[in-house]
Amino acid sequence: MPGELTTPERKAHAMTITTLNNYIDGGWVRSETTFKALNPADEKVIAEVPASTATDVDAAVTAARRAFADWRHVNPTVRARHLHSIGDIVKTRERELAEAITTEMGKTIGEATGEVDKLAKAFHFYAEEATRIHGEVIPNDVDGFASLVVQEPIGVIGAITPWNYPLELVGWKLCAALAAGCTIVIKPSQYASLSPALLFSCIDEAGLPAGVANLVLGGGETGPAVAGHPGFDKLAFTGSTATGGKIARGVPAAKPLTMELGGSCPMIVTDRADIDAAVAGAARRGFRNAGQICIAINRIYVHETVYSEFVDRLTAKVSELTVGNGMDPAVDVGPMATRAGVDVVDQHVRDAVARGATVTTGGTRIETLAPGNFYQPTVIAGCNPDMLVMREETFGPVVGVMPFSDLAKAVDLANGTEAGLAAYVYTGDLTQAHDLGRLLDFGNVAVNNVDAGIMNAPYGGRKGSGFGVEHGKAGLEGYLQYKHLRIQYGTRQ
Ligand code: NAD
Repeated sequence: MPGELTTPERKAHAMTITTLNNYIDGGWVRSETTFKALNPADEKVIAEVPASTATDVDAAVTAARRAFADWRHVNPTVRARHLHSIGDIVKTRERELAEAITTEMGKTIGEATGEVDKLAKAFHFYAEEATRIHGEVIPNDVDGFASLVVQEPIGVIGAITPWNYPLELVGWKLCAALAAGCTIVIKPSQYASLSPALLFSCIDEAGLPAGVANLVLGGGETGPAVAGHPGFDKLAFTGSTATGGKIARGVPAAKPLTMELGGSCPMIVTDRADIDAAVAGAARRGFRNAGQICIAINRIYVHETVYSEFVDRLTAKVSELTVGNGMDPAVDVGPMATRAGVDVVDQHVRDAVARGATVTTGGTRIETLAPGNFYQPTVIAGCNPDMLVMREETFGPVVGVMPFSDLAKAVDLANGTEAGLAAYVYTGDLTQAHDLGRLLDFGNVAVNNVDAGIMNAPYGGRKGSGFGVEHGKAGLEGYLQYKHLRIQYGTRQ
């Protein structure tokens, strides 16, 4: 294939990742044009990245289509062995992969290591699931017929992912698709190309058959080239609600879509809550990954009887967070991934203050760490529902807090935006826990904890946060389609 690297270049690629390449049809392939990727902690150039074109995407789709003809029939135990093998290599190369994540998008090395560990577990989880894809035999209303309902792979998958969990969000799609017998072309975010490229070097090392998994790196032109390519049988997208809407409106033909979109997640703290636990939960889910999590707590509604105590304690806890380069193990909050992200955060903070809210800690960019994209972990108290922080996704190290007196009103406010991804509740009252669990209109509701996603339960949004799920058996089913096979076998005389 034109542009394919020679064997010495392939070996060199595994050792140095400063010049990245696409991975198409089982080999590393150069792209005509490149762009520079920057470290958000200091804006230094960390890699030359392919700006893949429609031609590159087309080559990847062609390879994936050819590979699908075989991969779909590969025995599930063999598919499982491939997935286990990649998972083992990922775990062995955990540190290298984690450093790539921290360098490209800023999260702390501890969080990045946790992400790689979860990626390895996803490979093992879906390796097991690959061997459990089975069907049903359905009774017929006339004798002599058997109806077999089987599940078959959908085909060639196009996957587009964001930068905030650059490996896990690639991994959930990749693992489930391969387990199902699909082949895949993945386009990661232009703000996080290093770790996906390293993941593909793990895939290469594991000897996955050529064309089963392909990587096309790039930004502006590459995403639309994937979304608009007629050769995909399904598109799996994770990213902002705005981009998801654009893709859904523009798909060239009717085909299955999975849309994992933006959050703006509420938290309700009732008068019966354990305030220590609620504060710890808000600090964890509001500020990990510098608040750049689709399920980050964005807006907090606190019962008026515990409001002051909650704000004081949260302010104290957040003001203790250490901000700096995520490679430093003492740091709690790294830089934000992009300057545009910092601008949105600053806009939300200024809007809240202009409308009468009070910043109790943080509230500004950290100029002493410039040119890195650093923003102080920020708590805004005295918010109201009109403020941007209480109705849009901030996607940064900021939470807005407001008091409520009537729990039903708090539920209305929590449900009152387009977001439907995750909601959090703290209460010591079982009735409140069940009522709120039932009434909150979100794909994930976590009560007295803030870890709304686990590997073997379906995870997805509703309303403006998208449709379709990842994780668990349901995540695998997103890559399968039913076939009804009705056989007439005759009747016994
Ligand atoms: P984004 O929408 O800007 O980009 C996501 C991906 O889409 C990138 O790979 C980008 O290059 C590509 N893209 C951009 N425009 C495109 C187009 N017109 N056609 C095709 N592809 C295009 O999002 P982001 O800034 O990378 O990620 C942050 C967003 O992702 C947040 O809103 C966050 O909530 C969301 N997110 C959701 C989940 C979830 O599970 N629901 C998980 C993580 C992140």
